[in-house]
Amino acid sequence: MEWPTPVMYQQQRRLDLQCSPHPQLEEEVDFFPLQCPAYPVPQPEPGPEQPHWNIPSISEDTAREAFVLFASSKCCYSSAPAKDGVITGMEAFNTYRYRLETFTESRLTEWSHEPYNGQPVDAFSQPPPGPWDIPAQAPSFFMDGKQTIKVPYTSSMKPCHVCLGMGRKPCRDCAGAGNKVCWVCNGSGYRHGDDRCHHCSGRGRDNCSHCHGQGSTQCPTCRGKQQLLVYINLTVKWTNNIDNYVVEQSSGLQVDNLSKVSGKELFRDSQYMVYPVVGFPDPAVVQAAQRLVNEHQGKYSQTSRILQQRQTIELIPVTKVTYSWKGNSHIYFVYGNEFKVSADNYPATCCCSVM
Ligand SMILES: [Zn+2]
Ligand SMILES: [Zn+2]
Ligand SMILES: [Zn+2]
Repeated sequence: MEWPTPVMYQQQRRLDLQCSPHPQLEEEVDFFPLQCPAYPVPQPEPGPEQPHWNIPSISEDTAREAFVLFASSKCCYSSAPAKDGVITGMEAFNTYRYRLETFTESRLTEWSHEPYNGQPVDAFSQPPPGPWDIPAQAPSFFMDGKQTIKVPYTSSMKPCHVCLGMGRKPCRDCAGAGNKVCWVCNGSGYRHGDDRCHHCSGRGRDNCSHCHGQGSTQCPTCRGKQQLLVYINLTVKWTNNIDNYVVEQSSGLQVDNLSKVSGKELFRDSQYMVYPVVGFPDPAVVQAAQRLVNEHQGKYSQTSRILQQRQTIELIPVTKVTYSWKGNSHIYFVYGNEFKVSADNYPATCCCSVM
């Protein structure tokens, strides 16, 4: 009977991967149409409001309220420009965000050990199952998670390699002697000529406090049990891999601001492997979907199993507001369902100067 080394186990795992229902895709250049022939191509609904998407989706009141809230959230901003500024223009730069999520499961095996406390020893009684044959309960789709499982039929017993089966290790503090040079008399046993050292009663040495004078301490690896249970551990990891693509908008608002807000969901599609959206009015979104779906399916099917994919398209409202305050013109942006505000050149960032 042969002991399953981690290397063999990895090979077996690779074989299992190849024989899995989702084979490696690296050599199939044209894999995608072959992979999902049965799925109908989803047709996103363009939505009846599309022709009006360039109209600001918020009112002047909403814009001003969001701005006042923004100013009051900054500790030394004066709220005067937000309250008294006169809105002179509102322009929409609404934009699309395409998001692809790929929910994957990966499995890793490695040797592990723990102090032996009489656990069952089952190695050699039958061949261990392959890593992908061990049942594991995935959390809900698109939720990260992790589970560790002791692989059945891999547990055996061996003397602890750290203490060589002694259960104890020489104390590091006193090098196993159980005592150390007295720090008060520096080992002489005397202080100031003929006075005996009171600390060590003239012995010149001091009991080691770390090992209580025993010269050795319990082995931390086997916790004094002398024997270890050695087995293969399987770590199952669920990961939601997310990529976003935001269509360039020419408003001047930094695109990374949009990562903190949500938009109006126009399209949602969730299945084992999605087909990139087609027929969406903005070709940049279609291209991004094709690129990201290809990237994800290529990348994640090599090192893990894809359990589910989800693609969404949101319309994120972005309104550029122009206002005048004290005779000067300024701008700010209100964006997202949350009405977040960005105002890089707020005219009164220190309230003392306005008073
Ligand atoms: Zn002493
Ligand atoms: Zn010691
Ligand atoms: Zn030990």
